[in-house]
Parts: sequence; C-alpha cells; structure tokens
Amino acid sequence: MLTGAMPEGDSLRRVAARLQPLVGERVEVETPHPRAAAKGIAQAVDGRVLEAVEAVGKNLLLRFEGGVVVRSHLRMTGRWRLERRGSRRVGTPWLVLRGERHEGVLWNGPVLELGEERVGRLGPDILAAPPDLDAMVQNLRRVGQAREIGDALLDQRLVAGIGNIWKAEALWAARVSPWAALGAVPDVVVREVLAAASRLMRASVEGERQRRNVYRRHVCPRCGTRIASRGQGDDNRTTWWCPRCQEGDTLLAA
Ligand SMILES: [Zn+2]
Repeated sequence: MLTGAMPEGDSLRRVAARLQPLVGERVEVETPHPRAAAKGIAQAVDGRVLEAVEAVGKNLLLRFEGGVVVRSHLRMTGRWRLERRGSRRVGTPWLVLRGERHEGVLWNGPVLELGEERVGRLGPDILAAPPDLDAMVQNLRRVGQAREIGDALLDQRLVAGIGNIWKAEALWAARVSPWAALGAVPDVVVREVLAAASRLMRASVEGERQRRNVYRRHVCPRCGTRIASRGQGDDNRTTWWCPRCQEGDTLLAA
C-alpha cells in the first residue's frame, strides 16, 4: 500500500504492533550490515531485555533494560519483519533481534542510532490519545506565518507523525488549501486540520480502510472540480488539493 512512499506514523504503529511478540524477552542482537555494525548497537543492547517497542512520530523506538534506546527511522526503504527464529534469509539485514521464538529483522534501515536525543526535538505526536492540539497550534504559530500550511504540517519538529498522504487528506477535509499561509488560517481552522489528521490516521491505525478523497485523485468527490497537484516545500513533495473547495490565502476575507 505504501510502496515508494515514506512510511507514515500510522504504518509505524503497525510495525510496532508486529514486533510486540519480542517485548519482554532477553534478545540476542546482531547487526550483519557493515554500516549498522559500525554504530556499536549490537554491543550496547545484545543480551538485554527488550522492554518496549513504540512508534513516536516517524521513529520506531526500541527500549531496552537499563534505559538504552535504539531509534530506527525507516525513510523510504526501511522494512521491519517478524520472522520465526532461525528463518533462512537471503541478503544482509541491518539489525536482527532474536528472541526465544521470533526474530525481528530490519532491512535497509537508513537511520539507526543509539539514544533518543533527536526524538526530544519532535513536536507532539498526532497519534497520541488524545493528541495535544493546543501545543501543535502553538508550535505552528512560533514559525514564520508566511509559511505554507501544507509545508509546515510535514515539519516533524512542529507536529510529529503526519505524512504526505494524511496531510493532503486532512487539509481537504477541513477545506484549507495547502498553499494557504499559516498566518491566513485562524487557530480554530488549524485545529480542525490537525483534528482531521488525527482522526483519519487513528482510523488507519485501527485497520479501517480509508477512502482517499484528494491524494492521487483526479476529481474532487465534494464539488466535482479537477484535483490539482504540484511539488511543495524544500523536499518538493507532491501535494494534491481541490482548487475550488479548499480555500487559500483568501481565507480571512471569506
Ligand atoms: Zn472540491
């Protein structure tokens, strides 16, 4: 479903759920891939009890006894699998966590590191129950208000966990253009966008199949207008929006 797409907060939640059978076990840890081996992670956590696996924003945190944390950010290519202990495999995984009956195996993990210093700088998690919408709005007000809302919503330091798909869908749901300047969108509407993102992503985590209304769609299901798409922000990630029913910088005048 997410082939070629950045894993979003909801898919990381599913990864965390998949690895739960290893939680509570004392694990053998190997880092077969040379780039992973160079980080000293196996030495730091081998033989420790895996106490928790959590998705925080776009990071997967593996918490080991003694307060040691391994952070895995999957970017475009990383994949975690849970396999039976001793499964044969072709290729060189980054990390293997071997429990009594299962092995958690990380393939192509581009970001893998000890400690959680960087996680401390993430904004509030959109998937928290309940999400701290006030803190998110405050964060979004602390940055330059000429910034486009579609770009700001992907800034993990302001709000953690919203990816490109749910950004587009949440803005559509709240009828706000991704090109609207933050300063042109009142607090109450910013909250609506965040609440929509949280609601849609929560449903996705719970396995509900979500209909896409705007992301990679051709026609707006609300007004029948042709959906537009264009690259946005420093990463030039494509954003989709309905030019008719999502309001842009004229929002205050409306
Ligand atoms: Zn429309």
